[in-house]
Amino acid sequence: MSRQGREVRLAARPTGEPVASDFELADVEVSDPAPGEVLVRNLVMSVDPYMRGRMNDVKSYVPPFQVGAALDGGAVGQVVASTVATHAEGDLVLHRFGWRDLAVGAASGFTVLAPTDRPSDHLGVLGMPGLTAWAGLFAVARFEPGETVFVSGAAGAVGSLVGQLVKARGGTVIGSAGSAAKTSWLTDELGFDAAFNYKDGPVAAQLREAAPKGIDVYFDNVGGEHLEAAIGSLGVHGRAVICGMISAYNATEPPAAPRNLAMVIGKRLRLEGMLVSDHDALRPEFEREVTAMLLDGRVKAAETVVEGLDHAAEAFIGLLRGENTGKMVVRL
Ligand code: NDP
Repeated sequence: MSRQGREVRLAARPTGEPVASDFELADVEVSDPAPGEVLVRNLVMSVDPYMRGRMNDVKSYVPPFQVGAALDGGAVGQVVASTVATHAEGDLVLHRFGWRDLAVGAASGFTVLAPTDRPSDHLGVLGMPGLTAWAGLFAVARFEPGETVFVSGAAGAVGSLVGQLVKARGGTVIGSAGSAAKTSWLTDELGFDAAFNYKDGPVAAQLREAAPKGIDVYFDNVGGEHLEAAIGSLGVHGRAVICGMISAYNATEPPAAPRNLAMVIGKRLRLEGMLVSDHDALRPEFEREVTAMLLDGRVKAAETVVEGLDHAAEAFIGLLRGENTGKMVVRL
């Protein structure tokens, strides 16, 4: 037997900012699970900035999406048919077959979650972006209580957790984001010590004003002018976690900044790139600690929800434009 499903395919490789016509919603026949497989109905799927890189035909740490084929990414769904004892009908599962309503595949690719969990948390604060924040701050930057951290993309999934972790562990945190509503949210709701809108003026001047004594750590989600400003404000032996450079993801020309890279020498800075996939060993500690912080209110998990698979492409385009506060997810 087979069922009718729907999936979002890459219709064309975007040039610059993605547009609706780069995506196509297609009907598809989904077969029953073969021995060893499960069939899952997705409840919620993730759109993430790294997917923009996969839409280009370039070799990277993840293979590119193919034109005409379904996109994929993180999703949480419910098992509707199973051929294995480890996965029961009704189980909540985390997996990699997003961008579609029905997913079928080897049971080993579907991690069973606790039935009480909020599914979208496993795509955000307790999922890949959450582990990125945790590993970047503690394992890569080696943040210590009392230090001052600057985080860009501060109102997003990764950035908002970075800031809250700094506060929970006794540091000072300054965030930058792209609207007044977001910067107010950071200071008023999440407890950031300061926040500025990078669209209001030069980042370097706004950062100097927010942190007149300089910063110890920069958590980079943006690159470009933000990285240049941070290099200027980092103190001697400062560290920068190079996590993302979203300001360049739609760029068709290489960025000009940072022009002050030579300061790395005199200040003996450490700029270290990171990939969350290197930090799986930290997952148990991260999940335990952040779950406890969520329960006692030290961490808030904000999300922006777009409804329906037919709006998934809009959600992704909106993510790159800053339409999200917290994690951007699509509810199916
Ligand atoms: P976010 O939830 O932060 O969403 C992206 C945000 O980027 C938008 O909301 C927007 O907010 C901001 N943005 C878009 N364009 C620009 C720009 N030109 N300049 C400044 N900000 C911009 O996404 P994530 O939290 O999922 O990811 C954050 C970063 O972390 C990304 O760079 C991503 O690639 C990276 N990442 C890296 C990982 C790794 O393993 N290295 C793993 C996961 C994420 P605003 O309104 O503030 O502009």
